[in-house]
Amino acid sequence: MKDIARVISEDYNSVLYIEGKKNGSYPYSNSLLIGEYLFDTGISEQFILKLKKNHSIKHVVLSHWHEDHISGNKFFNNSFFYCHCKDKHIIEDITKMDIFYEVEGLPTIGVYEGIMNMLDLKNTKINSVFDKDEIIVIDNDVRLRIIHAPGHSAGHCCFYDEISKILFLADIDLTSFGPWYGAMDSSVIDYEQSLDKLMKLNAEVAFTSHSGMIMSSKLIREKLMGALSIIQERDMVIISMLKEKTSKSLDDFTNKNITYNTYGIMKNYELLAEKIMIQYHLNKLVNNGEVELKENGYILS
Ligand SMILES: [Zn+2]
Ligand SMILES: [Zn+2]
Repeated sequence: MKDIARVISEDYNSVLYIEGKKNGSYPYSNSLLIGEYLFDTGISEQFILKLKKNHSIKHVVLSHWHEDHISGNKFFNNSFFYCHCKDKHIIEDITKMDIFYEVEGLPTIGVYEGIMNMLDLKNTKINSVFDKDEIIVIDNDVRLRIIHAPGHSAGHCCFYDEISKILFLADIDLTSFGPWYGAMDSSVIDYEQSLDKLMKLNAEVAFTSHSGMIMSSKLIREKLMGALSIIQERDMVIISMLKEKTSKSLDDFTNKNITYNTYGIMKNYELLAEKIMIQYHLNKLVNNGEVELKENGYILS
């Protein structure tokens, strides 16, 4: 059977890339395989079963708690699981996902529920956690740095092989959509700091969980800068809306495509996530002193 894991760089065959079902688009995601270590399990049930035919996987490292990255955990009952300490409690108790997405008790989230049911998530016991950046040495020729890069989730991690300079950015999104920080444990400020940290690595090859390979350090840097610019543009849109003089409530900013360029079949959920993201921007602008929160709502300082 053809191996679905493939080498990223011909001169370096220790690091393998597995593109998830539907090119890794949500609710699937891409994975990284190094020796007996698999990074994320969202490639789809079908792809996991194929992968297991060609590879023995003893260790599973999870980039963060989101459903599209952990759905295949249930196929690795005998493996050793790792994640960041801040995401452990949700992966071990997936009923917390509704709380962290802030959808609990809302009647309009049907599509979200359908996806969750289709993925058939199960609680996963985490055997070991990361609480700071650390290095795992795999098979003597890979020095993989675990990079805590919060913002998307509190315990979101990226993975960087210091020898090949290959960087797995997980959900640090480098597409035109831009960064997503729409859950209870997200943070726009942390996201900006994570982008700064990742830029300093000077990686030569990078890929994300939902998009393809970027094969030049210059382009990686440009894309990371681009993600930072998207966050700053969102700040500017909010500020320009406040320039209309009247004070505005959080609801006045919703359904205005500030973070989602278009709303899709999950519109109800997207509006909710967008509202959470705008709240983080407003908090940041209040902390910076650019915006004030008065009795009638937000105004420019
Ligand atoms: Zn995610
Ligand atoms: Zn994802």
